[in-house]
Amino acid sequence: MSEVRGARSRAVRRAAPWLVLVAAAAALPLLSGDPTITYLATTAGIYVLVGTGLNLMFGYTGQVSLGQGALVAVGAYTTGILMADHAWTFWAAAPVAVAVAVGAGTLMALPAFRLSSWYIALVTLGAAMAARSLLVEFEGLTGGWSGLMGIPRPALGPWELGERDILWLVLAVNVMLFVMVRTIVGSRLGRGMMAVRDAPEMAQSVGVAPARMKLFAFACGGATAGLGGALLAVHHGLVTPDDFTLDFSILFLLVVIIGGAARLAGPVIGTLLFFALPELLTGLAEWRGLIYGAALLVLMVYAPQGVAGAWEKLRARRRSSGVPADTAHTDTADADPGVPIEAGPPRGEPLGVELIGVRKSFGGVHALRGIDLTIEPGTVHAIVGPNGSGKTTLLNVISRLLRQDEGQVILDAEDVSRAPAERLARRGVARVFQTPRLLGTSSLRDNVLLGAYTRERSGGPAIVLRLPWARREQAELAEEADRLLAGHGLAGRASEEAASLPHGEQRLLEVARALMARPRLLLMDEPAAGLTPRELESLGRLIRAIRDTGTTVVLVEHHIELVASVADVVTVLDRGRLVTSGPPQEALGDARVVEVYLGAPA
Ligand code: ADP
Ligand code: MG
Repeated sequence: MSEVRGARSRAVRRAAPWLVLVAAAAALPLLSGDPTITYLATTAGIYVLVGTGLNLMFGYTGQVSLGQGALVAVGAYTTGILMADHAWTFWAAAPVAVAVAVGAGTLMALPAFRLSSWYIALVTLGAAMAARSLLVEFEGLTGGWSGLMGIPRPALGPWELGERDILWLVLAVNVMLFVMVRTIVGSRLGRGMMAVRDAPEMAQSVGVAPARMKLFAFACGGATAGLGGALLAVHHGLVTPDDFTLDFSILFLLVVIIGGAARLAGPVIGTLLFFALPELLTGLAEWRGLIYGAALLVLMVYAPQGVAGAWEKLRARRRSSGVPADTAHTDTADADPGVPIEAGPPRGEPLGVELIGVRKSFGGVHALRGIDLTIEPGTVHAIVGPNGSGKTTLLNVISRLLRQDEGQVILDAEDVSRAPAERLARRGVARVFQTPRLLGTSSLRDNVLLGAYTRERSGGPAIVLRLPWARREQAELAEEADRLLAGHGLAGRASEEAASLPHGEQRLLEVARALMARPRLLLMDEPAAGLTPRELESLGRLIRAIRDTGTTVVLVEHHIELVASVADVVTVLDRGRLVTSGPPQEALGDARVVEVYLGAPA
């Protein structure tokens, strides 16, 4: 618990300089009383708002969009039409604008389920271009080239909001959104989003449905763009197609990238640098395109994480240079990882698997050529065979990351031949990959917590509203994750970044993530690769301990001694065929197996 609290106070300290900066930026126009500054600050605030939504989409979920400007236009025009033509109040029009923009944003997301992110960039760019033409074409509704004029200010009863009140409103909305995004990012939702961004297959294997996550991200992006549009409409008092050029759409992506994608402060910094600064230094305004084009190039080469990312790195370097190297970490050599699992019992009875006539080809490569195999519940079932014999493909078919061409997969008497991987995760199947797939920029604790994705009961609303029981659940799971980390020799390092770990420890982290799911069936793909003899021994103890708590383990492994010492059953594959299956001494002593391994002629 103190670890968690410590992390929280560190996070506050990290955020403090930005908060001071934002407060100063907010106070300047309020104190100066200069209407131009108030006007620009309001515009900047709206850009931050839209940028923050896009940061959730692009920065955290990896869904690029060049069409946010079009969604802002949708929000602005909806508000304009309802308020100017139909005399709606702002408070009634804004929610409708948000809803319409969410609808449009979700529509724009549909190609995202089929296309890679760079095609989505093109699709969204196309949407941005089409939107402007539509604004001109539908003249009756939108006023064509001249747009909509006479959009009134929001009013509270008889009191109409002034220019400064709108600034206050924009700031208040930003603060609320900031807190909301911060909460989301630190919760299972945020971890799910980052998993979709960093490793979609791993995301599925922990129970995240990538399509739903992307949809949620696009909806968030649409909602903030719609709200930004509504505010922009009443801020300007008019909307015209010229407000929504292609530049305007691309601006938001640049703001997020320059400020620092997947950094909470990114959109604030990006807006200050990209929009506010050149507006203030009016002499520079005409050079803006050139300066920012060049700045973007330099930044992408030297600081791909944006300004916020570069700043964090600088601080981390200064911090680590202040600490003597040998005390920077707790010494893991003395820890005895692998004996205590420290995770609770599995969440149900161990699961058995049955494969019937499973075939899988990749083009002309027949990776699996008709496999019939039964994996008994509660056993350690090893799968061995030379490189390319189809072991990983077999695990992928069992965990549903691949669909077999022919045959059936039965999980605990249920035919799951067509089930998606995320559904199996919910039933208690966990996976350790051959090459670690982690949330590289997240902490060790968050990586382990991701494993609990399907165990957590708090849904989106409970998380965003920070309901007490949802927070209690989070705290309990965080403690469990810390215990698991300690059990794997990573005590006291829960806040470190996963990407900074050496390869061997990244593997341990994956194992901890898998155990955090309290799995009923654990699929491990060559966990012993690159381990020292001492680590091998503790891995063997760990695997036996996992089985003894009541989890079926399928172990793909090259290391024959490890297999011989832990497996209850060994199955040998060769070129996509099952050679033999049986108790270790029998299977490994089989003449055909010796041939497979040594290539001796029969
Ligand atoms: P193993 O894990 O036993 O080393 P794999 O299951 O990874 O073997 O691969 C079995 C065969 O299928 C290999 O010949 C490999 O090249 C091929 N293969 C595996 N995955 C793919 C893929 N996604 N696309 C094309 N070929 C693949
Ligand atoms: Mg493999």
